[in-house]
Parts: sequence; C-alpha cells; structure tokens
Amino acid sequence: MTNEQTIRTTCPYCGVGCGVLVRTGDGIEVAPDPEHPANLGRLCSKGSALAETVGVQGRLFQPLIDGQPAGWDEALDRVATKLRETIERHGPDSVAFYVSGQLLTEDYYAANKLMKGWIGSANIDTNSRLCMSSAVAAYKRAFGTDTVPCSYEDLERAKLVVLAGSNAAWCHPVLYQRLVKARREHPDLRVVLIDPRRTASADIADLHLPIRPGTDGWLWNGLLVQLAERGEGNPLYLQFVEGSEEALAAARESSPNIDTVARICGLEPERVAEFYDLWCRTERVVSVFSQGMNQSTSGTDKDNALINCHLYTGRIGRPGMGPFSFTGQPNAMGGREVGGLANQLAAHLELDNPEHRRLVQDFWQSPRIAERPGLKAAEMFQAVREGRIKALWIMATNPAVSLPDADTVRQALAECEFLVVSDCTHPTDTTRLADVVFAAQTWGEKDGMVTNSERRISRQRAFMAAPGEARPDWWIIAQVAQRMGFEQGFDWQSEADVFREHARLSAFRPEVERDFDLGALAEISDVQYRDWTPKQWPLPAERPEGTPRLFGDGQFWSDSGKARMLPITPRGPARATSEEYPLVLNTGRVRDHWHTMTRTGKSPRLSGHVVEPYAELHPDDARAAGIEEGMLVRVTGARGHIIVRARLSDNQQPGSVFVPMHWNDQFSHGSYVNRLFPVATDPVSGQPEFKHNPVRVEPWQAGWYGFLLSRREVDLSHATYWAKSRGKGIWRYEIAGSEPVKDWARCAREVLCTESCGVNWIEFYDAGRRTYRAARLEEGRLESCIFIGPSHELPPRDWLIAIFEQDEIDEATRRSLLTGKPGAGQEDAGRIVCSCFGVGLNTIRKAILEQGLTTPEAIGERLRAGTNCGSCVPELRSIIEQTLAEQSEA
Ligand code: SF4
Repeated sequence: MTNEQTIRTTCPYCGVGCGVLVRTGDGIEVAPDPEHPANLGRLCSKGSALAETVGVQGRLFQPLIDGQPAGWDEALDRVATKLRETIERHGPDSVAFYVSGQLLTEDYYAANKLMKGWIGSANIDTNSRLCMSSAVAAYKRAFGTDTVPCSYEDLERAKLVVLAGSNAAWCHPVLYQRLVKARREHPDLRVVLIDPRRTASADIADLHLPIRPGTDGWLWNGLLVQLAERGEGNPLYLQFVEGSEEALAAARESSPNIDTVARICGLEPERVAEFYDLWCRTERVVSVFSQGMNQSTSGTDKDNALINCHLYTGRIGRPGMGPFSFTGQPNAMGGREVGGLANQLAAHLELDNPEHRRLVQDFWQSPRIAERPGLKAAEMFQAVREGRIKALWIMATNPAVSLPDADTVRQALAECEFLVVSDCTHPTDTTRLADVVFAAQTWGEKDGMVTNSERRISRQRAFMAAPGEARPDWWIIAQVAQRMGFEQGFDWQSEADVFREHARLSAFRPEVERDFDLGALAEISDVQYRDWTPKQWPLPAERPEGTPRLFGDGQFWSDSGKARMLPITPRGPARATSEEYPLVLNTGRVRDHWHTMTRTGKSPRLSGHVVEPYAELHPDDARAAGIEEGMLVRVTGARGHIIVRARLSDNQQPGSVFVPMHWNDQFSHGSYVNRLFPVATDPVSGQPEFKHNPVRVEPWQAGWYGFLLSRREVDLSHATYWAKSRGKGIWRYEIAGSEPVKDWARCAREVLCTESCGVNWIEFYDAGRRTYRAARLEEGRLESCIFIGPSHELPPRDWLIAIFEQDEIDEATRRSLLTGKPGAGQEDAGRIVCSCFGVGLNTIRKAILEQGLTTPEAIGERLRAGTNCGSCVPELRSIIEQTLAEQSEA
C-alpha cells in the first residue's frame, strides 16, 4: 500500500455510520467526509480521535492456541477438527457462534452461511441482540418485515422530534448535531426527550419528561387514546392497517386518561398533556427510539406502542415522519440483512417458512438448512453453562463484559469444552478464556460493507497493512469451513465475491416477495465494489439509486399485506425495588467511550473525559446513604457488587442510579457493571434488561485513597480498587485499598521502581496527616509520581500530568510535587471537557467567571471548546449554568 493517499471509509463505532476521510503519509489523519450523506462533514469526539486508536499496542499478531503463538494452519485445523468432531458426536446444535455488529456484512454473511446452511443449526446470535433486537421484533410485528422506514433527513424535515430512551447527544452524536442545526435553522422544530435521566440530550429539548423507569408503554398507549379522542386517526391510511380497534381497546384499558398516565409514569399531568398536544397537532413527527426502550423485559411491546401511534395517524413513509430506531453498532443493520440473529434466515427470509428455507438452501446448494430458530444470546450462554453447547466460537465481541450476569458467563466460558475467539485485541476479558484465538483484522485493515441506521450501505476500506498475520474474518470462517469439508460453498477469493453472493441471494426467486432486495448489485464488478458510494436499500434492479423511505404507499410484507397495530398491555419491570435494594440501576454509555473500551481506551483524548467507572446518584439519595461526591461506593445487586466512584447530580431522579457499561478487567478491578444484572429478557425479542435492576449503594470504607501517574504501565494487583486511563505519554491510575499500609516508601518503590540506576526519588511522608507523596525522576524528567492519603480528597491531577511534558524539572516544580499544589505559573486545567482541543473544566470555569462568558458560543470563541465536533456543547451549557449559580450564591 502506497503512502500519501486519502481513503474514504466509515467510522467503526455507532450506527450513525459516518463517512471518514483517512489521510496516510507520515502519520494517519482522520477528517469527516463532507460527501457522505450520513454526516455531511461532521464527526463526533470518538470519530475525530480515530487516528489515536490504530496503533499496534494490544494487537494480536498471530493465532494463539492455549495462550501460545501458533501458525494459521495449526489453529484453523484445530478449530475445524474440533467443530467437526463435536457435531459428529453431539449433533449440530452442540456448537454455536456468537457474532457481532462490529463485523462487516461479508463476515456476517459467511458466518451465517456456515452455521445455518452447512452445520445445519441456527445457533448463531449476535451482540446486536443486546441493543436493538426489540426494535427488530417490533418492526416485524408491525410491518411484517424488519425494516426501518425513515431517513436521517427526516430529522431535519420534521416539526417534532421525540427522543424516547435515546441519549443521542452521546450515543448518536452526529445525528444529534444534525438536529441541533435543524433546530437553529427552523425555530418551529420542537424536540421532546423522554428519559428518566436528564441527559445531555435535554440541552435541546423543549420538553423533558423524566419518566419513571420502565413505564414507557403506559405513556405511548395514552398517546394513542388521545389521538383517537381528538380524531387524529387517518382513515385513508388505516385502510392499510389492521388491529387498530384492539390496540385502542388495550390502550384505553391501561391509559384511559392523562391523570392515570401521569400517576403511573411519575410525571406532572401538565407535562404529559403538553407532550400529547404537541404530538397530536404535528403532522411531521419523528419518534426516535433506542436502547432506553429496547433494553427491557417489555421492550418489544414498548416499541410497538410507539409504532402504533404512527400507523394510526399514517405518519410514516413520508418526509419528516416515522418511527425511527437508532441502532447502536456500525453494522447491526448488516447483521439483520444477512440473518445474523438466531431467529432469522438470510436476506430477510424466515426460518419458520419452508418455502423460504428451500429458497436459501437451493441458492446455497447447501447440504442442509437449519429448520428451527437457534438460541438467542442469553439462552446460548445458559446452554454453554449447562454443557449443551460444547463448542462456541465468539467473533469480534467481549461477552465476558457485555452480557448480563457476567460472572456466570465467565464461568461458563471457562468451563466450555472448546472456546474459540476471533479478535484483533488480546488480552480481553473474553480472549483470556479461549482455547484458540484467531488474529482478526480490524478497522483500517480490512474491506467490506456496513449498513447504518437509515439502511444506507457504505464501504469500509483498508488504508493500512494489517500487522503480523492478522486476517479478515470472512477468510477465517471460509478457511475453517473448507477444512471441515465444505469446500464448495466457501471458495470466495475476495470480499467482493462474498458481497455479490449476498446481493444475488436477496434477488433470487423474486416471486418469493421480500423487501430486502439488492438486485441492482447482483452483478457488481470488483471495480464498482471498490468505488461504491453509499446508498439506501432496497436496491432492486429497477431502482439502483436506492430507497429513502418505505410504507408511505401502504404496502407491507405481512401475510395480509397490511400493517398491524398491536394491542399492548404494558408490564412493569421484571424486578421491583425492595428495602434491601431500594435504587433502580440504569446503565448506558459515556460520551467518549465505546463498548468495552478495547479501541477508545487507547486514545488519550478520549480517556480524559471520564477516567474511571462511576455511579451517578441524586444528592438526596447520596445524603441519605452518607455518600459524598468523589467517594468510592459499593453498588450491590442480587448477583454481586462493584466498587466505583460516586458522582452526585440532580440530573438523576431520586431512587435511580446510573453506572456506565464500558469498564472491564483491563481498565479497572472488577467494575464491569453487568455482573450485577440477573438474566431477564423480553419474551418476544430475547433482548436482556439493562435499564432496571434493583441495587443498593453504600460508602465503601477505604483504608486509603491514592493516584499514580506513570510513563510505564504498572502492576497494581494488590490494590483493592484501581482504574487506569491513558494520558498523553502516561498512564493514570486511581487507586485505593482497604487495609492501611505500614511502610509507604517501601510499597511505592515496589510498585514503581524495579531498578534504581539513574533514578532519583523524592518523597515526603506526613505521619500526622497520613499522607505520602513521591516522585521518580529519570534524567531530570518526571517518570512517575504517587499521592496517597486517608481521604478521597487528593491533589488535582491535571497540572501534574502537564509536568510529564517537561524535559527537565526545575526546583520549583520539585517543591510542587512534594506539596501537591501547583506552583506559580502552573495552572490546573481540570478534567477534560472538550476532548478535541483538550480544554479542561477549570479553564472553562475561570473563563466564565473572569471574562463573563455566558454561552457555549462565547466559550468556543475564546477557548475553541465545542467548535469542532460539538459533542461537549451540552456539557458547556451546564458548566455555565452551574458556575453562574455558584457565583450568585457566593
Ligand atoms: Fe462515529 Fe461519532 Fe459518527 Fe457515530 S456519530 S459513526 S461514533 S463519528
């Protein structure tokens, strides 16, 4: 691959699917693609920092067998032999694949074909089960097919956008930015946020409904009742819809009037009335729904209650309207197209339809075809635990962190007879348990297609050589298949070969009608595949330009050809709070991290915003439990406990606590929050609950608190609590222990100093205050420093981090290191708020107070914060509010 080139590709993080321009040369530079229709020249903080994540640190260069490096032939043979033997001995259902929305469509297609067509089981499921399978099931029930009807452009053409269980500002930031711009340009556009938390997305909301967790079904049913009472049913469109009477009857049963809804949902009746009024009188309304709705034991019903309102009013399939599921992962949609879920067949065909099964088997010319749905994610790991699944192949995902009841999952994986993991990174909490690890290529190294939340198919393109012997996932799967004796179906020579086959299958036997049709791409040439520009499916042969919207014409894919409104009887959460567990635990993302941090954890820019796992509580709950800001707390649920930092915020409603989902054993000590969740799933979609788990939160009595900054990674396994994050050229560790240490100097030297030549120690121990500080200097530069004390109130870290950039430490700085206070000329910028320009909290607060800045725009002008990706703008606004409020109180 030549240097000095610009490659068009797509971001590997969320389902927005932004276009990225990557310039290679001396280094790698990432810029937004102004021509990609998803982002039109924008990227969020994660996309902007992609260049920091492509290094080889933590990469897996070759396969591993039993933890030892191995050749490809040996590893592939081992896996093929073991899968074949297991199937021969125990049958096809004794093996399973657990795949991922991170895979490219070609990888997904290959895995699904091997499992359903050649092994003959449907035991393949994907981590997308955890984020949007309720949306899939709801669309399928309503439209007869799993199809998102909208386009991103509809957000800009709407007059009302409802964000239901969606913190788009952090989870789909570029769509949020498009909404911000639309609102600026069209002042009559209204935004409503429905979320128990006051998230960053509330920044642009005209109305925030802080709904009681788990009560969305009542709210949407109440809207349907109001629509009927105000005569907003669309008789023309209702010709294409069945079930409206039953749906209305169920809605009237649960949500007869505004007062009832308000009482059940914990909302003020006036606010509910305001929402209903807005929705009822606005024709162009987009209702966005996401994980806050989906990740629930009644997620499918909640989603259908929302879709019912759009079907009833005919507000679907036309510009500026529709029920719009935002998907979490970059290729969750691609997985849906190839049948990556255990209850789907390829190309939107159905497993339980004999004609569909015959079609796929005939196309594949496969020896067999799965005849019944396989195990969904949670069931699959239960089967591993019970020994029913004896060989499991996990691809591009980290279920030891991301599944509910994560400790039981770990135990199941450890005991699984044969565990294979394909990953680009090692170790992860999952690869550590594998018998064989395949070294997979990752973003920037491999080629293929992805589909975003608006059905837009885009290319990911390689722009750098893969390190070591890493290989693309589709190739690994094809090699295993061939070595299992399935040469004929897996002899592709390139990604383009796989994609052509996928497109041909979608158009095979057109008399079997389905909406997923890539007929226009059935003969796509290698050059066309290379140069592909993003388009939205369906892409039938007669409409190669693609399809922005569906269902405006009233054509659906159910047996009757009509849409279906579902009668929804709302159900509360599976587990109620109790005296023992009085708070509701809700989980989700932070702004700058992605999934289990295997990529974003490499970026200093992204790691500075939130440096450790935390529990956010309402101040009233904290006060009642004796918890202060910055303390370490123990969060305990029925399945275990974690220790995390306490954050107090009235953005959290009383009775609730929020803990982010990202941290794992590589970045903290046992703080993966999903270990607290028992398995509880939606009965229709199989999606696990991640938004409602009863817990209690109490102070964790630490014997000491500390932090450590070091140019080298250090082993802190003896600390009861540790969390690490990457800074520019350094590692930052927050640490704490339960037992006081007798000899701090000795302990610090054991951790920090393995050899002493050329090392200059400076240290100070205050026996009265029980504080210890030490710094280790090498050739005049700060190499590491450690601060310990009896309380969580320790010196600020950020000015210390800046000292690591000095080539030589002067005397004043040495003194500062020991006093723990910045000296003259050393400013503490505070925790990073704007990761694009590295602007810290203290710098922003100082500018607000000293320069009288009162808007994010003014801060942007002075400090640049918020002027690149805009992801921090909501936080800037809340810092302004808080700083000015504190000033007026002082
Ligand atoms: Fe990537 Fe951000 Fe775009 Fe999502 S919104 S695809 S994370 S740049």
